[in-house]
Amino acid sequence: AKRRPHVPYLEFDTSLSEGATRRLVIDSALRVAMARREFTLHYQPQVDLQDGRLLGVEALLRWQHPELGRVPPDEFIPIAEENGLITEIGLWVLREAIRQLRAWDDAGIEVPMVAVNCSVRQLDPDRFPAQVQAILGTARLDPSRLELEITESMLMQDPDRAMSVLNALKALGVRLAVDDFGTGYSNLAYLRQLPMTRLKIDRAFVNGIGQHGNDEQICRTVIALAHSLQLETLAEGVEHAHQAGFLMQAGCLLAQGYLYSPPLPVAALEAWIADGGVR
Ligand code: C2E
Ligand code: CA
Ligand code: CA
Ligand code: CA
Repeated sequence: AKRRPHVPYLEFDTSLSEGATRRLVIDSALRVAMARREFTLHYQPQVDLQDGRLLGVEALLRWQHPELGRVPPDEFIPIAEENGLITEIGLWVLREAIRQLRAWDDAGIEVPMVAVNCSVRQLDPDRFPAQVQAILGTARLDPSRLELEITESMLMQDPDRAMSVLNALKALGVRLAVDDFGTGYSNLAYLRQLPMTRLKIDRAFVNGIGQHGNDEQICRTVIALAHSLQLETLAEGVEHAHQAGFLMQAGCLLAQGYLYSPPLPVAALEAWIADGGVR
């Protein structure tokens, strides 16, 4: 009898092209998303592990499209990085987060600082530091109220370029965090030379606390490494009290995660703060 080995292959092919079609749809929808004001920011509290005090918020981009619905940043940001729109979108995120921080100051709502995610494509040495300075100047905010988060893997893509932009940002007084730390393959000698202020322990490791001895060991090692480089550590994705307990014992001072609060729209974050935050 004749077999038809190419049938499953065809099915596979079809699903591939669905993925490619979705990318194309997202790509073209992204091109008009800014003009149509489809982006918003949510803010997730960053707290002191010891007493739950609010130390800052991380701005996280949200995209609501009329037909596609809510598209997650993990899906559209890589596409925006590829087609170059991330430069424009990233600048909007920065302006909006800084405008919001100014508004909180004016309203007497105490948000010590805001952290903004940055893609390496935004780190143009000729433009980015000047743009950051202008945005902070317009809002009359001290540069130390802003932290820029850059993922470890991105820092490793183009080390020389990253180094010069980061030094310029540091000279302005902006704070710099290595995001998703532990997932890349950092050259420690290189990492030491970067003017960073904080390491963010990736939530994959935090998630393994209490389950995988390996992950606990990685958390301990990252915290010890950060201490030796005189960097702060913030643990991401803290969901359970026992994880917070472990991290505190290991010497980590800062945390972020669903245990404290998910990322929230502005009004909900203000309610969380008015409520006393974490108790
Ligand atoms: P990220 O910077 O590592 O952000 C943390 C992600 O973990 C967020 O996902 C947040 O909602 C989620 N999260 C926070 N706490 C918990 C927790 O306790 N448990 C779990 N399971 N998840 C938690 P989100 O908002 O979907 O963002 C995904 C990624 O998209 C971000 O990862 C960041 O890499 C990127 N992103 C978001 N906004 C921006 C932006 O404005 N610019 C750039 N370049 N990237 C952005
Ligand atoms: Ca981040
Ligand atoms: Ca992260
Ligand atoms: Ca991430």
